[in-house]
Amino acid sequence: MSAIQSPLSALSVEENVSDLIHKSRVLVVGAGGIGCEILKNLALSGFQDIEIIDLDTIDVSNLNRQFLFRKEHVGKPKAVVAGLSIKSYNPDLKIKTYHDSITSQDYGVNFFKKFNLVLNALDNRAARNHVNRMCLAADVPLIESGTSGYSGQVELIKKSVTQCYECQPKPAQKTFPGCTIRNTPSEPVHCIVWAKHLFNQLFGEDDADQDVSPDAEDPEAKVEGEHSATDSGNVKRTSTRQWAQDIKYEPAQLFNKFFKNDIEYLLTMENLWKTRKPPGPLSWEEAASHAGDTNEDSNDVRVTDMQVWSVSKCAKVFSDTIGDLKEALSDKSFLVWDKDDKSAMDFVTACANIRAHIFSIPTKSRFAIKSIAGNIIPAIATANAIIAGLVVLQAFRVLVQEYEKCPSVYLRKKSVHSKFLLAADKQVTKANPTCYVCSPQPFVNVFVNVETMTVKEFETELLKKHLNMVAPDAVLDGKGMVVISSEEGETEANDNKKLKEIGIVDGSILKCDDFLQNYELTVAINHYEAKEKDDPLFKVVANPEDLKAKESQNGQEDGSKSDKKQNAEESDEDDLMVVDEQEDPQEGSSKRRKLNPPDERVDEDDDLCIVEA
Ligand SMILES: [Zn+2]
Repeated sequence: MSAIQSPLSALSVEENVSDLIHKSRVLVVGAGGIGCEILKNLALSGFQDIEIIDLDTIDVSNLNRQFLFRKEHVGKPKAVVAGLSIKSYNPDLKIKTYHDSITSQDYGVNFFKKFNLVLNALDNRAARNHVNRMCLAADVPLIESGTSGYSGQVELIKKSVTQCYECQPKPAQKTFPGCTIRNTPSEPVHCIVWAKHLFNQLFGEDDADQDVSPDAEDPEAKVEGEHSATDSGNVKRTSTRQWAQDIKYEPAQLFNKFFKNDIEYLLTMENLWKTRKPPGPLSWEEAASHAGDTNEDSNDVRVTDMQVWSVSKCAKVFSDTIGDLKEALSDKSFLVWDKDDKSAMDFVTACANIRAHIFSIPTKSRFAIKSIAGNIIPAIATANAIIAGLVVLQAFRVLVQEYEKCPSVYLRKKSVHSKFLLAADKQVTKANPTCYVCSPQPFVNVFVNVETMTVKEFETELLKKHLNMVAPDAVLDGKGMVVISSEEGETEANDNKKLKEIGIVDGSILKCDDFLQNYELTVAINHYEAKEKDDPLFKVVANPEDLKAKESQNGQEDGSKSDKKQNAEESDEDDLMVVDEQEDPQEGSSKRRKLNPPDERVDEDDDLCIVEA
């Protein structure tokens, strides 16, 4: 098959590489699904000096794909056990392990400078962003990798040669319009999101965005010429939590409100049901004695996990879990939903299925709901192995500094027959000149409401969560005033002040920096007021023109272009195929990037893993 002669075949070991392999010092960040595979490959291909860092300990659910670990290792640090395992392949290996977070202050720029090469095998965006910045600051080449189900990618990041991990804005996690969740669910996932919101309304942290009641402001529900028919139906009700507490979380009353009264109210919004099947209200009494239920009360966890619960079972679980969760709440101010908390997961399974039943949407097993609710994409051991193989092949090229010969490589699911498909960019992708991380003078425009946002919110939500600084300092330009300090206690007095109160207004410039990341960023403040209910709290753009560009790209993320490629190769029998790169590397690469958004990458910690035979 001539297609195998792709740029990938150039990634073979050359003679002068082996010497460099022996001498190089490599850091592997993460010893999970991909990390284990990378470490095995490094050890077997002759690397002698390897350091491993990972924060996690081994869970029993890791054992089906993280092959350096065995049953007896459960509970032990991943980095340490992975190090010992690969040392058994080659006792001369020099291994150093850290059971720690890579974002810790202990691993500064000088730590990174010790290495010839850093290999990322991480499972979250925050750590990836951080290592990206550390490698740029230390000017050490970084090979970034990730998998998501059958998809995956390998990408070289080298200062001044390639783009960095943060050059392109990453798509936000998929969200659903509030009206769909509250009024017109049509898919199981809508009911699952609603059920998670219900959990938070009853037991979690107060969040107005997660209201589960019918939304009378739904534009679709409004009759033309009529103004908001039910101003009171929506906003000015006693909070759901308060009401639930007042009735002492009585299950039948709660059930009747959410699954009968609210649904009856939805039915009064007649416009919604002109083209849809209207929902059927369900009372507690009807649910508890729902006809047609089979006897399925099994104590076997595997059975109850895989079975689709009947309506009466859901009602019973609803009632039981409310008791448990109310109990759990008694000594806390709120609960945090966790897919691994049995009561919380059971509650969401029951509520999602009852709602699905009401809206004639297929109901699902607890297992299926858990995977959706936990935002889990199954981890595929073979995908991890393929990606890790590519990482180490690319490492050989990097050691001889042939960076230009390291284009990004993508793995995709090829067809329903579980075949894999590999594709590579034609050339390395150059840095985005307006990148707020790797450009020579990083700069962003930030749109915030300076009258309502507090300094603490600015620090936590914007500088830390969004711009991924670990310990930021911020100085108000012109005045030279330190408004946020990474030194504890130094600027605490500012925390609860609004930005405007300390002089941060439209047009202000903040010089922000993170000492650990060796990163300085100029932030231009633009005053912005959210107009619509769904408008974000703030916006960050490197270049105001990007705002328009981003909007026009929406809706193109279904990957129709690459599907065409996949279909063209459908008939081949090989399990692993290598095809020539796309005709238009630039466009092709950006499309594929969108297909594999990093935030959809596998949560390596998760216990759900489906490996197809
Ligand atoms: Zn960049």
